[in-house]
Amino acid sequence: MKLHFWRDHPRAILLRGKLRRFFTVRFRPGFTQAQIGTRGGHCLQCAACCKIIFRCPWLDGDNRCRVYYSKIRPLVCAHFPINGHDITDVAISSGRQCGYSFDQGNSR
Ligand code: SF4
Repeated sequence: MKLHFWRDHPRAILLRGKLRRFFTVRFRPGFTQAQIGTRGGHCLQCAACCKIIFRCPWLDGDNRCRVYYSKIRPLVCAHFPINGHDITDVAISSGRQCGYSFDQGNSR
């Protein structure tokens, strides 16, 4: 079976996720809000989503966001996760389970 880097490699999947979230939040704000309205669970404050591909430079030594209550906090962070793919990205990146969840079939 031939593997395709862009489709199958974990880092490629995570990079695609970063791009998908950036463009979704930036250009589809209504869709983003609708997706957020469908998710269940809650944030465990594990900071796993802050370390996808690279560790966010705003994280302090205790894994707390230095800009959480600031206007410069990126929208992609404030709205994470947007769909089931983001939950999967956390698992691929860290082996952790994000505290949020989406119904099956709502992983657009
Ligand atoms: S991975 Fe999920 S549970 Fe962990 S900090 Fe991010 S949103 Fe919260």
